[in-house]
Amino acid sequence: VIEPTRDAALARDRSDPIADLREEFVIDDPALIYLDGNSLGRLPRRTEEAIRRLVRTEWGGDLISGWEHWVELPFLAGNLLAREFLGARAGEVVLADSTSVNLYRLAAAALEARSDRGTILALADEFPTDRYVLEGLAAARGMMVRFLDSDPTEGIGIDRLRAALHDEGGTGGIALVVLSHVNYRSGALEPMTEMTAAIHDVGALALWDCSHSIGSVPVELEMAGVDLAVGCTYKYMNGGPGAPAFLYVRSALQRALRQPVWGWFGQRDQFAMGPRYDPVEGIGRFLVGTPPVAGIVAVRESATVLAEGAGIAALRAKGTALTELAIALSDEWLAPHGFTVGSPRDASRRGSHVSLRHPQAWQLSQALRAAKVVGDFRAPDSLRLGFASAYTRFVDVWHAFDRLRQVVERGDHLRYPAIPGRVT
Ligand SMILES: *Cc1c(COP(=O)(O)O)cnc(C)c1O
Repeated sequence: VIEPTRDAALARDRSDPIADLREEFVIDDPALIYLDGNSLGRLPRRTEEAIRRLVRTEWGGDLISGWEHWVELPFLAGNLLAREFLGARAGEVVLADSTSVNLYRLAAAALEARSDRGTILALADEFPTDRYVLEGLAAARGMMVRFLDSDPTEGIGIDRLRAALHDEGGTGGIALVVLSHVNYRSGALEPMTEMTAAIHDVGALALWDCSHSIGSVPVELEMAGVDLAVGCTYKYMNGGPGAPAFLYVRSALQRALRQPVWGWFGQRDQFAMGPRYDPVEGIGRFLVGTPPVAGIVAVRESATVLAEGAGIAALRAKGTALTELAIALSDEWLAPHGFTVGSPRDASRRGSHVSLRHPQAWQLSQALRAAKVVGDFRAPDSLRLGFASAYTRFVDVWHAFDRLRQVVERGDHLRYPAIPGRVT
């Protein structure tokens, strides 16, 4: 338990074993407290340098011969994520496309492999793109998606999931279950191993979206027996805006699965320009077209910074302590002003962000930005604060809550429009 005082926060920073990692990031305005690294992580210094080198030396100088090594990048960066952040083996992860597109492609491959079954399970509270992608897949195949209710704070958990798995109600068995490891709004961390086992008990495949867990909590895809996974690299992984997503396919499944977009980067003997599609063995069959080289270089650099400067265990330990402090400060200062904590209080069930629920959350998020604390708003009533342990200090948490307390006490937020803007 952390005492919610500024001195205690400063003392925690002094004894923080990964405090120096912050120096590896570009921080132009030291007065700005950035609590949105779960949406777009900060720029690592070495990324700036690596991108300059890629553009100037490799593209500018090497021209087309750069492809001799650029073609390996999706695999090399994938192996790095697999080893350091995903608990997966070499050859099980690649970088490609966006999370939405990878989810579509892997879910489609899974449905193909379970074509005798008619139902997809997902949460009603799931991140929107995941829900839309699954709806689209189901509509095109005459299948249905059952959207399960979950607790807005605690997530679904093993018992509710198990009940849903055994209460078919669908049109002939569950083909696929898609779940987020850490919920984007509440930060609820689901028990991946137990839930995957329960999914396998009914013969379905398990696809996990790790967008909010990669780089913030340990992900153990192999140990958990996960079939398929996808996730973003621009959140806690700091890969930059639009950085390519990762996709994971358990090696034992790779041969049996065929993704729906048949592109030349998945083709055996690609440059033979053969007459028909014949996908390679291995994870390469899940590639489609020309890889986004600059984006992959950025992910490689940022993953290296995190792996060398801390490692996922240290990032997780600090993330737990930062969110503990945030919850303690919320209880002490904000609860009297009508805030409730919309994230699990059990640290083992929580990722690295905390949602504070308040009827005026949108206005509060704007007033807080004016006070130089950047978090974000998530409908309907969450002020979401992300505590990326790579560059967030304990004293930043203290100041962020101090500023938020002052905002509500003065009523600054009441001067802002109550209707959310286009990007929140
Ligand atoms: C952030 C996030 C996405 C984003 O998908 P993009 O295709 O990168 O826009 C998808 N799913 C979840 C669960 C997310 O948190």
